[in-house]
Amino acid sequence: METDVKSVDALNLLKQDHRTVEKLFQSWTRLSDATERHQLCRQICQELTVHSQMEEQCFYPEVRTMAGLEDMVDESLREHGHVKQLCAELESMQAGDARLSTQMGELQRAVEHHVKEEEREMFPKVRETCDQQWLLSLGLAMQQQKTQLTQQVTMPGEQRIREDVRQPSRSESWR
Ligand SMILES: [Zn+2]
Repeated sequence: METDVKSVDALNLLKQDHRTVEKLFQSWTRLSDATERHQLCRQICQELTVHSQMEEQCFYPEVRTMAGLEDMVDESLREHGHVKQLCAELESMQAGDARLSTQMGELQRAVEHHVKEEEREMFPKVRETCDQQWLLSLGLAMQQQKTQLTQQVTMPGEQRIREDVRQPSRSESWR
């Protein structure tokens, strides 16, 4: 039975992700141990990777089809590019690297900017344009996608997700 899956619409799901990452950044600033800071930094980058991919694979393609929102999607994709680059640099650093704090500060600012733009501009327009039932079914598809992506990013070594990995066709059946 799938009825006990919590129904969260697509926009609220993405907002939950934003709150999770904000909390992780707050915890990060409170840590002083170099190993713990390094670990949490990796975790933040993994969360951001999953979030970005979910938006890019499930959410933005839909938003792009809505009148007047194309430019916003392009802007968000540029921001994701910046976040990805910062994460890639962070993930190559060792615990105790002196550049970690500065880089994390920059990542936090980039993420805050992304969150503000989406929640103040893009999401309200999407909410206006879309039917609630449709947002719920998109939310469900995104939750499934998120579960898969999370397994992929947290798998060690060779099993890590490849950039070119395509969304499996069966998860497109939510439409
Ligand atoms: Zn987002």
